[in-house]
Amino acid sequence: MNKTKIPWCDWTWNPLTGCDAISEGCRHCYAEALSKRFGWTWGRSVFHSKRLKELKQAKPGDWVFVCSMGDFFHHTAKRAWQDAVIHEVIQHPELIFLFLTKRADAMRQYWSEYCAGSPYLPPSPRPMPQNVFLGVSAENQNMFDVRVSMLMEIPDVACRFVSVEPMLSHVSLGWQKPDWIIAGPETGPGARIPLQLDYSMDALRGECTCNGIPFFDKREGEQFVRQWPGHWRNAYYNCCHCENGRCVHPDYTKLGDCVQCPLFQKLSAEEYDDV
Ligand code: SF4
Repeated sequence: MNKTKIPWCDWTWNPLTGCDAISEGCRHCYAEALSKRFGWTWGRSVFHSKRLKELKQAKPGDWVFVCSMGDFFHHTAKRAWQDAVIHEVIQHPELIFLFLTKRADAMRQYWSEYCAGSPYLPPSPRPMPQNVFLGVSAENQNMFDVRVSMLMEIPDVACRFVSVEPMLSHVSLGWQKPDWIIAGPETGPGARIPLQLDYSMDALRGECTCNGIPFFDKREGEQFVRQWPGHWRNAYYNCCHCENGRCVHPDYTKLGDCVQCPLFQKLSAEEYDDV
């Protein structure tokens, strides 16, 4: 278990590692690159039973990203391994666990069977653990439509989130309304950044704002900053009058929008380098 710089969680926890590419978003997979560099197993799941007890390091309220170095729902992940992990998750209701996958069908199948009952985790049936947030990655509209529709079919999930990262083309919510969206461009060597990225990110952010969906803007990758210095938009969420992307300042109707707001101007000038 490791403290992480990923801005939307506090820890990464890897009781299962390993995966293989499933779609375009995998082309520059950092987990694969790291595994190959250090000679770790890649292409199939590996279970690290000793890591199950690492959760003691976290403090109440921390957010734990499960399996940042693979996919918990990879087809080679044995059901008994997955259940052992979920058993630990249930023992720690004071923590939030985030599961992010590109295998939405396998995730839907797992939780359906979990709720119905499992030979490894009595009793059954059982409710969805409310400290579990389920997410899917979607790099383009097709993947968004397919994976998010499967995510939305899983009942009683405390938070359904979508990581539109790397954003490789325009993505719109359409009819689907998850609870939280993270989005950002591809970063690192060979990053594929679509010409209309700035427009697509703003459009998706606007859709989220209109629907009351929190939007986590990750436009601070090196290439983005170089090409689109407008990443100050991230500062919206640093403003004390911002609630989930909506301005709740009592004078909002006079202010018009964040760019006109004197509070925002001050904050964006002062904190430009920190957002
Ligand atoms: S699904 Fe995730 S972990 Fe697996 S290869 Fe693709 S990017 Fe890497």
